Amino acid sequence: MTVPLIGVTTYRLDTRYGFPAHAVAEKYVEALSEAGAAPILIPLRLPEERLDAILRKLDGLLFTGGGDIHPSRFGAQMDELVGAVDEDRDRIELHLFRQILPRSLPFLGICRGFQLVNVGLGGDLYTDILAQHPGARHHDYFPDWPRDHLAHDVEIRSGSGLAKILGVSKVEVNSLHHQGLRRLAPRLEATAFSPDGIVEAVELPGYPFGLAVQWHPEWLQAYPEMRNLFRAFVQACGQPKV
Ligand code: MN
Repeated sequence: MTVPLIGVTTYRLDTRYGFPAHAVAEKYVEALSEAGAAPILIPLRLPEERLDAILRKLDGLLFTGGGDIHPSRFGAQMDELVGAVDEDRDRIELHLFRQILPRSLPFLGICRGFQLVNVGLGGDLYTDILAQHPGARHHDYFPDWPRDHLAHDVEIRSGSGLAKILGVSKVEVNSLHHQGLRRLAPRLEATAFSPDGIVEAVELPGYPFGLAVQWHPEWLQAYPEMRNLFRAFVQACGQPKV
């Protein structure tokens, strides 16, 4: 089998030496590599046509976690609860997402990447779950908790693509987000829910592999279900293009 090339979105990191770097958490790279892929980090700051040139070489795209998407991207107002916004990253990821859809390129969204998929297809977000979702529990187990802390379970819709991949109907997950999916984008299907009713996974029906989760499976690779998620994604990326 050929090794699928999977683009991985990055974030801007101000190094301790005083210059900016484009970075990605190692866990994503490890999980993709372990599942058989070659991860390709996609830098920020590039014009759209250079992004398209990269995209033409890729077999799939992983939208990683990170800071909040600027609320103007989903018709909401900036408020003091919104943090770590990077509008250049918003531009790049939304451009990439819109480019892959007509090409049916497989994608996996994680945390911010899950929110990006919903925003990219016309849905919107709670800019803060606790402040805006009645009955919400804490979902923001960061930065003082281990990133693999199992914070809550999720109920997985039976018959969904996610249920087939994970092979379970309920699973415990980590929870490293304070924002959440509010209005589901028209083309998406919600396929996992936390006990307080927050959507924790979405899928794009009829698409070769279009899936996104609110939790961080790359930190839960000790669990076979979460390894299956990366394996299924990488396998889809390795299929011949239609
Ligand atoms: Mn959660």
